[in-house]
Amino acid sequence: STTSDTTIFEERESQVRSYCREWPTVFSKAQGVYQYAEDGRRYIDFFSGAGALNYGHNHPELKKHLVEYLTGDNVVHSLDTYTVAKREFLQTFQDLILKPRDLDYTVQFPGPTGTNAVETALKIARKCTGRLDVVSFTNAFHGMSLGSLAVTGNSMKRAGAGTPLYHTNTAPYDDYFDGETADFMWLDRTWSDGGSGLDTPAAVIVETVQGEGGLKAARNVWLRELQALCRRHNVLLIVDDVQAGCGRTGQFFSFEEAGIEPDIVCLSKSISGYGLPMSLTLMRPELDQWEPGEHNGTFRGHNPAFVTATAALKTFWADDALEQNIAARSEQLREGLHRIIARCDGALLRGRGLLTGVAFPEDDIAGRIQAAAFERGLLIETSGPKGEVIKVMPALTITETEMEEGLEILVDAASSVLG
Ligand code: PMP
Repeated sequence: STTSDTTIFEERESQVRSYCREWPTVFSKAQGVYQYAEDGRRYIDFFSGAGALNYGHNHPELKKHLVEYLTGDNVVHSLDTYTVAKREFLQTFQDLILKPRDLDYTVQFPGPTGTNAVETALKIARKCTGRLDVVSFTNAFHGMSLGSLAVTGNSMKRAGAGTPLYHTNTAPYDDYFDGETADFMWLDRTWSDGGSGLDTPAAVIVETVQGEGGLKAARNVWLRELQALCRRHNVLLIVDDVQAGCGRTGQFFSFEEAGIEPDIVCLSKSISGYGLPMSLTLMRPELDQWEPGEHNGTFRGHNPAFVTATAALKTFWADDALEQNIAARSEQLREGLHRIIARCDGALLRGRGLLTGVAFPEDDIAGRIQAAAFERGLLIETSGPKGEVIKVMPALTITETEMEEGLEILVDAASSVLG
């Protein structure tokens, strides 16, 4: 093919494409926080595969383990049979993640994607409680398959299903009421009142930071009150940590800071550490109630992903160096974004950790900044119901110099739009 030739994509690929419309070039190489197009242009990646590349592209330590694994005749595909690579992963996840946090979760390998982890959570919640409904929140994003879409609070995305989705309730997300305290009285009353017509649900599913929904971050007190409400009514609390987890907001799990302990946790995106498909559904041991065969799938045993996942945990979660970098780079990012906010009345800082951005008062500003950033060599995504938020999500391993380089481009792009 010739340089940046997109003809076959236009002719043959489904029109259901989104990112390529924003970045109309053909990428060929990637390393660390940089991505390179076929025409030789270099881009700084402030997007990180929608959160799937928390340790950057092709991290050398992870690559070494992957190449070694692939070079031998090791098992690649294994359904849910026991393998050496899976044993290593489970042991490491228990030793480095669960034990130090005093968490006791049974691990399900629900399939390759985040939506698989969410579907598994919803199904097991209904099975264990015998109840039907699930409460989710305005602007939530939990996935695109029918169950996860049913709890996604975005009407444009829901319209893709064409027909009504199964019965769920949508409740307002944290700062909807701009309150100082968490106010769950409405849900508390309706669940207590048999005549309300709203049955007590099986579960509540929540993101601690709404990655796709506009970077709104739940306050810790709100999450604690939500957990208390769920416990009062024996409703299961599911935290969807697919995007906010694996260190993105500062600690391995995004809910650690709030001191809550969800009944079910969904992880995917960066759990393999290398951008390979993998997901986990963690559940309190007593929720592990399926009979063998009641829930299964072909791609639950992607061993190369177990190998890179194990290497990622050992490389980044055996000490606190990564957490320190996330804290320092988050601070640097917030300072940088204030340079943009200062140029736009009504612009607001949103998010937590390295899942932070700026919400603009007019819908088209973020999209125009994104396009201007692309021209200047920076990949950055928008977020929010109207795409009104610029979302900065670099690798957690990004250095101070790389962050400054990206921020300078972003501020320049924003200035070109805001004047
Ligand atoms: N939950 C959340 C919070 C997400 O951000 C996403 C993906 N953006 C998903 C679920 C779905 O994950 P996947 O695209 O891998 O199915």
